Amino acid sequence: MRIKRRKITKKTVTFFQVAFHFRPPFKILIDGNFIYASLDYRMNLKEQLTNLLNSSVILLTTSCAYHELRNLGDKFSGASLNAKRMQQTYCGHQKPKQVSDCFLDLIGKNNKKHFFVASQDIVLRQKLRKLGCVPLLYIQKGQIFLEKIPKFVSQKKTNEAQNVFFDKTNQNENLNQNQNQNQNLNQNQNLNQNQNQNQNQNQNLNQKENKKKLKRIKRKKRKLDWEIIDLDLK
Ligand SMILES: [Zn+2]
Repeated sequence: MRIKRRKITKKTVTFFQVAFHFRPPFKILIDGNFIYASLDYRMNLKEQLTNLLNSSVILLTTSCAYHELRNLGDKFSGASLNAKRMQQTYCGHQKPKQVSDCFLDLIGKNNKKHFFVASQDIVLRQKLRKLGCVPLLYIQKGQIFLEKIPKFVSQKKTNEAQNVFFDKTNQNENLNQNQNQNQNLNQNQNLNQNQNQNQNQNQNLNQKENKKKLKRIKRKKRKLDWEIIDLDLK
């Protein structure tokens, strides 16, 4: 595998893991013409896909894809046999559909089951590429390639990530503001408490002084009384 292709593939796989939560073992949905091409180049699909994606893989097809290969005659009997050996994922089509329609139904709008799609059908790949959530595989000159991430997808995801970042930043700022407000509130409360304490202290002080004054007055009065008594006695 050439280094450049390996780098691009790794980047693409990582992107789908981060942006769309793809997790190994990767589920590879394979159509008849991809199986046929792999036989043409005598490829071991499981081994090569495992090497390419650097992860364990599950090769899947559908009853519709198998049905199509079986009906294509002797030329496709090898591919049909390979499809038969693969695990079939349930597509829900009682009456076999055209494989591209079958796959599009299975993927839906969001590719919730996280399928990779391996197909030589350019039109199907174009339709899936527009969804932006399906990693696409194809064979060229005896090698399997993983398509690069379309620019509109990476741009969209970058914008989403930035929005999340800004949201979080704003939330943090709001949190900080609230904390500051709370601190100010606490400080004000402390200030009020202090003022109240001071007032109480002052009141206490006043009460003490008043008591002292009263004592002084009483003492004076007593003294006067004694003086009067003394005068009387004289
Ligand atoms: Zn189907």
